[in-house]
Amino acid sequence: METIIQDVVIIGGGIAGLWLHHRLRKAGYQSVLLEKEVLGGMQSNYSQGIIHGGTKYSLNGALSKATNAIAEMPTRWQHCIEGQGEIDLRDARIASDHHYMWSRDRLTSKLTAFFASRALGDKIESNTSASRPEAFNNDRFHGNFYALKELVLDIPSVIECLSGPYRDSIYQYNGTQPNTFEVDGEAINAVILQGKQKKVRIEAQHVIFTAGEGNESLLHSAGFQVPAMQRRPLHMVLVRHDYPHPIFAHCIGSGSKPLITITTHYDSEGRPIWYLGGNLAETGVELDSERQIQSAKTLLKDILPWIDLGKTEWKSFLINRAEPRQNALTRPDSAFVHTQGNVITAWPTKLALTPNLADAVFEHLSAPWAQSTPDEVRRERLAFVPHPPATPSPWEKYFC
Ligand SMILES: Cc1cc2nc3c(=O)[nH]c(=O)nc-3n(C[C@H](O)[C@H](O)[C@H](O)COP(=O)(O)OP(=O)(O)OC[C@H]3O[C@@H](n4cnc5c(N)ncnc54)[C@H](O)[C@@H]3O)c2cc1C
Repeated sequence: METIIQDVVIIGGGIAGLWLHHRLRKAGYQSVLLEKEVLGGMQSNYSQGIIHGGTKYSLNGALSKATNAIAEMPTRWQHCIEGQGEIDLRDARIASDHHYMWSRDRLTSKLTAFFASRALGDKIESNTSASRPEAFNNDRFHGNFYALKELVLDIPSVIECLSGPYRDSIYQYNGTQPNTFEVDGEAINAVILQGKQKKVRIEAQHVIFTAGEGNESLLHSAGFQVPAMQRRPLHMVLVRHDYPHPIFAHCIGSGSKPLITITTHYDSEGRPIWYLGGNLAETGVELDSERQIQSAKTLLKDILPWIDLGKTEWKSFLINRAEPRQNALTRPDSAFVHTQGNVITAWPTKLALTPNLADAVFEHLSAPWAQSTPDEVRRERLAFVPHPPATPSPWEKYFC
């Protein structure tokens, strides 16, 4: 069996693995990434693309640990979008340069007390009707409205920027195939890629699991018991319609979580699609699709009574967020990185926290090895392994 030597093998090609792979390659590490299906994975391509700065987590009025960890992320991503950050995301598409928050009415909403506390300093701007998005310039809108300094990105275009330059070192391979790992105690000595006619061992200084929900079975197939994972399910709703004005916003009620989070996307013919998450998606996990869609219709009618969506088509689906296990299924506070031997297991816990995850991983890495196999030899030895395709976004998948 042939062997190649790499500094790092990453398993899982969602935002976490691709961001890390890009940074490692730029920093001179020899790394390969193994993705079992498609680039951008599950959660990343299905996310709403909001680069949170923590505002929505602060609705109870206090700045939590989550707020602190995430607060710098919008600036960090903005630098990348401008081509001045650690990764060049100038070709990524900005869906909206602000995310917004609105309340149905001025008196009962959490927003009133929250923003009156001025806890968020320069992260928000109060909107006059002149600067409000068109969808909220209506006489029937009587609530508060704020612009958050948070970008919303088109994630498939981000995935393309991350993977494009290093696609030849990204392979389509399922890390839970039998005998993939040569384990010695707490270390993975080699990752073995097996084709029909050929097997290659990859010896690496570090093996990094960034497989989202797949981390659990990767850990088990390597024989590791920790870290434990939790799934937090969401029942997301998509509606294709004729209303021309986009919405990127959280609607705030009297609770500490947005009633609904709306982002706007487009099908291949340019028809708008709203993607609906927030509390609607969290509380709807027990409902079947028909009842969840009915809840979404009722809520939209209640909070946006002046909007006529025209002809609509509705879809819904369940998807899990995967994270390290917490007490009582609470939301983790920051990107999570666990080390054991030469194995690093990582969950960003929020797409926005991916730069933070990469920083945390780099703290655990040794310097690049001098003896790593050169790229030409690695390419030739792994030529039998295919490269994964890009994945369609949910709106392409459900409305093509
Ligand atoms: C509906 C939804 C909306 C969200 N919206 C936002 C948002 O607006 N803003 C935000 O900050 N966060 C958001 N999040 C959270 C965010 O999407 C995730 O935290 C983030 O995308 C996780 O990225 P990841 O790379 O760890 O996992 P994933 O994107 O799930 O990628 C994991 C990859 O690993 C691969 N894989 C799995 N098993 C194996 C294996 N055995 N071998 C090889 N590869 C494997 C998978 O195929 C997949 O490609 C949202 C999440 C969901 C579900």
